[in-house]
Amino acid sequence: MGRVFVAGSINMDVVATAERHPRIGETVAGEAVLYFPGGKGANQAVASAKLGIPTTLIGRLGTDAFGRELRAFLAAQGVDLAFVKDTDGTHSGTAIITVANADNTIVVVPGANGLVDADDVAAPTLAKGDVAVSQFEIPLPTITAFFRRARAAGATTILNPAPAKAADKGLLDLVDVLILNETELGVLAGTELRDNDAPSRFAEAARALGRGKIVCVTLGKRGVLALVGDQPLLVPGHEVKAVDTTGAGDCFVGALASQLATGKPLRDALAYANAAASICVQRMGAAPSMPTAEEVENAIS
Ligand code: ATP
Repeated sequence: MGRVFVAGSINMDVVATAERHPRIGETVAGEAVLYFPGGKGANQAVASAKLGIPTTLIGRLGTDAFGRELRAFLAAQGVDLAFVKDTDGTHSGTAIITVANADNTIVVVPGANGLVDADDVAAPTLAKGDVAVSQFEIPLPTITAFFRRARAAGATTILNPAPAKAADKGLLDLVDVLILNETELGVLAGTELRDNDAPSRFAEAARALGRGKIVCVTLGKRGVLALVGDQPLLVPGHEVKAVDTTGAGDCFVGALASQLATGKPLRDALAYANAAASICVQRMGAAPSMPTAEEVENAIS
């Protein structure tokens, strides 16, 4: 069995709830402050580790209270943190979120995440059968360096290009499996796509990106459309009562990576990831809502 290596962001999400949002220059009294461990790298690593697959996170934290708290949380989830560096002179990645009347405002400050560099991703030794995963919350040249090393070691590379932004061909050429939602597909393929477009529209856009790689377009409750070569494969989602879809995409990516590391065929790995993400959406939060292997197996059978 291979290992999963995730190079990515680690954030503390600080959420303040209030009756209404302040206007510019105004102060309003809030109701509560909540702290949620997050960051796409951390969420995906937790999803994979909780499924029982050896998972190493590569990233950076500040030497601050959030950094210590995030490290303790991730360790408790079973994530290997030997390659998460504490970095002086900056702060841990932080998202400041205000929630009022079901609307939110978010300011994300990358801090230490912005300093993850080529030396950091060169530190662990990857081997054939391992799976290397990254997203767009650390510098893109770092991801390119990571995937180049992973490919040279015979590992499979998975890119989740989120939050959406354009990427150069040099990076995309190093990707074996691309996992993205409709918005991210539209940005990478340079075409406008809507959530309720027909799967054939997504297949067409994915085909333009696909050359030589597997493209998996997550379609919310509809499941996932995978394109292997020219062949579209629609794996339907599970019908569940969703209460909070935060982290569903991250759960899907971590679960798919974990199953590819076990050597499972793609179709089975996609079905497993759909099942895992359908459990995640039935619970509040991102990292804390990732399921265990036992829960996923119960949902599949
Ligand atoms: P987010 O940004 O909310 O994390 P995303 O836009 O990256 O999500 P989605 O396509 O919305 O990703 O969801 C990822 C996967 O989660 C889907 O492919 C599906 O397996 C599962 N999923 C999402 N929403 C639902 C739902 N309402 N019911 C069942 N499964 C869902």
